[in-house]
Amino acid sequence: MNIFVIGAGVAGLTCGRLLQRAGHSVTVYEATESVGGRVRSDYIENFILDRGFQVLFNQYPAAQRQLDLQALQLCAFDPGAIVCVHGRREILTDPLRDRSWPDKLAAGLSSAITPLDKLRTLAFAVEMRSRSIEAILAGDDESAEAYLQGRGFSRAAIDRFFRPFYGGILLDRTLQTSAKCLRFDFKMLSDGATCVPLHGMGALSEQLAAELREHGALRLNTPVRNLLCDGSRVNGVVLADGSEQQADLVVIATRRRKLRG
Ligand SMILES: Cc1cc2nc3c(=O)[nH]c(=O)nc-3n(C[C@H](O)[C@H](O)[C@H](O)COP(=O)(O)OP(=O)(O)OC[C@H]3O[C@@H](n4cnc5c(N)ncnc54)[C@H](O)[C@@H]3O)c2cc1C
Repeated sequence: MNIFVIGAGVAGLTCGRLLQRAGHSVTVYEATESVGGRVRSDYIENFILDRGFQVLFNQYPAAQRQLDLQALQLCAFDPGAIVCVHGRREILTDPLRDRSWPDKLAAGLSSAITPLDKLRTLAFAVEMRSRSIEAILAGDDESAEAYLQGRGFSRAAIDRFFRPFYGGILLDRTLQTSAKCLRFDFKMLSDGATCVPLHGMGALSEQLAAELREHGALRLNTPVRNLLCDGSRVNGVVLADGSEQQADLVVIATRRRKLRG
């Protein structure tokens, strides 16, 4: 089949590569001058500048399936977090994995959260590590906040640690997002490492793009303006220059649905 993918962010690149590997003729249309969307790096005067704060959890099943993690030469951050309380910085590390005894000691002595909350966090980490992804995603859902309260975490632990930390990951400081997402991310953090490729997060997108590039399947600087439709069926795209291109299937992998049929 002749398939168009709109958008060369990590979603469009992954989709395009999978379709190409499955034997389809693929064209990925990207509005900007480079691939990666929100996961891009600029290389300026020997500095690597990632666009926005992005890190890679090396335990993400999709990352393990789709990426050659070894080729990315991942650099891992130390496990744990630094919590700012009244202008003081306190280390909360993962005692199961952090090999730095000074950091373990600092975390033990930290008053950012109570000793009971530290034990609850440890128990949470141990439980998430022992359960499968399927098990932690099964059953009814609730808000992340309700889930943490149900596990007995104090208001201070939720407000000082979970709200800023997971609010940053889930882009929701109210913690009203799914408890399943919280458990999943906590498991990813507990099971693996938080990393950045040696050559920046953009290297990840470049790796996904390589095969598409080889086959001449990438059209950069080519915004799609509209979808072409035959009744209720999408059968192509209209490019910004007004030209119409026919396809058997069109995949939209852009941030917002600005395209019209
Ligand atoms: C602040 C922030 C921090 C984040 N941190 C992390 C993190 O640390 N780790 C992590 O795994 N995830 C993180 N994420 C999430 C991650 O960035 C996104 O899930 C991912 O980049 C989305 O990829 P995408 O391909 O769906 O979309 P995008 O990256 O938005 O890509 C869409 C592409 O489509 C193109 N496009 C748009 N319109 C058109 C058009 N009409 N024609 C052609 N092309 C078009 C755009 O130019 C773009 O290249 C973060 C997100 C944000 C906002």
